[in-house]
Amino acid sequence: MPELRQNLATKEWVIIATERAKRPEDFKSTKARKEQPPFSKECPFCPGNEINTPGETYRISDEKGWVVRSFPNKFAALVNEGERIRKIKGIQRWLNGVGVHEVIVESPVHNMTTALLPVEGVRLIIELYRARYRELLKDDRMETIVIFKNHGEAAGTSLEHPHSQLIATPVVPGQGRYRLEEAMRYYDDTGECVYCKMLNEEIKEQSRMVMETDHFAAFVLYAALGPFHTWILPKRHAPNFGEISDNEMRDMAYILRTVLAKFYHGLDNPDFNYVIRSAPTGGGANDYYHWYLSIVPRLSKTAGFELGSGMFINSSVPEENAKFLREVRVP
Ligand SMILES: [Zn+2]
Ligand SMILES: [Zn+2]
Repeated sequence: MPELRQNLATKEWVIIATERAKRPEDFKSTKARKEQPPFSKECPFCPGNEINTPGETYRISDEKGWVVRSFPNKFAALVNEGERIRKIKGIQRWLNGVGVHEVIVESPVHNMTTALLPVEGVRLIIELYRARYRELLKDDRMETIVIFKNHGEAAGTSLEHPHSQLIATPVVPGQGRYRLEEAMRYYDDTGECVYCKMLNEEIKEQSRMVMETDHFAAFVLYAALGPFHTWILPKRHAPNFGEISDNEMRDMAYILRTVLAKFYHGLDNPDFNYVIRSAPTGGGANDYYHWYLSIVPRLSKTAGFELGSGMFINSSVPEENAKFLREVRVP
């Protein structure tokens, strides 16, 4: 019998299609990836081609040169130029496309991948995320800052060089607004943060836990929207990512790197997206919203039903996925 499950925080329903559920190992990527060289002359993100990416916004270097750097996306969705202008005319709501769209190059090595970086390398990526996040928080034209990574073609990128992106938008997107309101409602009803509640339950329950560190826990969601849909949640309640401390950053680098390595080795380098979900910038400190990182491996396709209902069909069992990931050994 299939079952329906609801995510307590997002109120999203999902069908866990137990009848046609696949075993975790059936999701192993079968796609042959082209071998990449450690350096590519044509790649705009490789060292030596910095001239093609003007307007660097941040860089962290060691004695050999830069290790991570960020700059405006050449094909930016939003442009960091001028004031935010809002117009309302009849049924039309309009804003000029002011915002920030940056690329974060995660390593000078062309064929590197996050799962194979040393933990310190991942820590530097997070340090850059935090620096840019904190800087953009001061810009009152921006209402939401989204940091995300697309890995592989199914996740929306054709560029091999390891990179992530940041987009700051002049409005709060619908999904962010909805999550915030649900969190507020839950807090009104119970006096608790719904994310803290989920985290504590998952730690107690253990069946969906992938791993835990001093400051973070990674678990496959009870109402996972697809195979291996995983959240990494900080244990300390904080509404926005910019508040992460140095200690937490080290810990997050370790857990993120390990979970991605479990995907890499256990599922043969699947395509995936991850996104850091943080409260809208204007919110300040609050007791109800809790930032987190969500990893969505691209192992199934969405179709008409998902589009039409917003409800996903997951053809795997979250508890089996978590058990599988727990057992993947990471070198
Ligand atoms: Zn490159
Ligand atoms: Zn919380």
